[in-house]
Amino acid sequence: MNPPAIAIDGPAASGKSTVAKLIAKELGYTFINTGAMYRAVTWYTLQQGINPADTEAVKALLPTIPLSFGKDGSVSTVLFEGRVLTSELTEKSTNDNVSAIASIPEVRALLVAKQREYNTKEAVVMEGRDIGTVVFPDTPFKYFVTASEEVRAARRAAEGITDSIAERDKKDSQRACAPLKQAEDAMLVDTSDMTIEQVVAFIVADINKKLA
Ligand code: C5P
Repeated sequence: MNPPAIAIDGPAASGKSTVAKLIAKELGYTFINTGAMYRAVTWYTLQQGINPADTEAVKALLPTIPLSFGKDGSVSTVLFEGRVLTSELTEKSTNDNVSAIASIPEVRALLVAKQREYNTKEAVVMEGRDIGTVVFPDTPFKYFVTASEEVRAARRAAEGITDSIAERDKKDSQRACAPLKQAEDAMLVDTSDMTIEQVVAFIVADINKKLA
């Protein structure tokens, strides 16, 4: 049996990344940011001058894509030719095209396999869109973290990031393959009126209850 996998899903800028990272720290688990993996494939596709809408061309890139998925301490990283990708992942062009890349089933199959690999060796807190529905459908630890659209837009603006989150959420929710949606057995956590500390404490308490 694999170590515990904590699934944190939700729309863009719901605070799930911050919360997931803190939960991982508190439990001593590895934090895995799956959005970074889709962002890296998007960045690389654009670097190659390929139109993300050209599904066949994107698929042709996948078998030899020079990206690797590692860890820095207890946090996941994505490397390109041995170098950790950082600012590339939140460039406007990456933001604008990631939903198109993430809608390609072959891209998802490749990344989901990498995501599951992390959990064969260690306990993980993994955040994304389909962690509770597709990556770890059998985990008892599923949380769907959300906030009102106004709160989410304000959080993104405060980070100084230009990102059409409403448009991304719409595309992510409407795609045929692994759309953004709350798993039936996930706990809904609306963070609009909660502090980060409250959200972390709430989820950690639930995990500890289930582990006991
Ligand atoms: O979490 P983040 O906003 O960085 O994710 C960027 C994009 O990657 C999402 O808008 C979505 O298109 C895609 N994604 C996904 N499945 C995941 C994580 C991210 O489709 N598990």
